[in-house]
Amino acid sequence: MLETHVRTRLALERSAAAERLADLERSFADVVEAATDSNGDDEHDPEGATIAVERQQLSALAEAARRALAEFDAALARLDAGTYGSCTRCGSAIGDPRLDARPTAILCIRCARQAARR
Ligand SMILES: [Zn+2]
Repeated sequence: MLETHVRTRLALERSAAAERLADLERSFADVVEAATDSNGDDEHDPEGATIAVERQQLSALAEAARRALAEFDAALARLDAGTYGSCTRCGSAIGDPRLDARPTAILCIRCARQAARR
């Protein structure tokens, strides 16, 4: 796989993840602000319960976006270090089809299967 191609793809997907995270953080701030505006009585206010669920969902999504962002950063760092595409566990090549499907993969398919089985 061409390194420039990989780098471009990782950078694009990274900025998409960063944008998603920024959106989620904005939504989260909006929900928090809306909750502060209401009387804040979560227990007796059905609106308050909805807001709590919404906050939980938003923070789970934000957490996933943050994790994705970290994976892209790590992949780009491995690209810089020249270790991109090598399995971090056994050192063998991860392989283009797998990297194409999952550009942030750090394990070859064999090690990934082993890790999943444990
Ligand atoms: Zn491996």
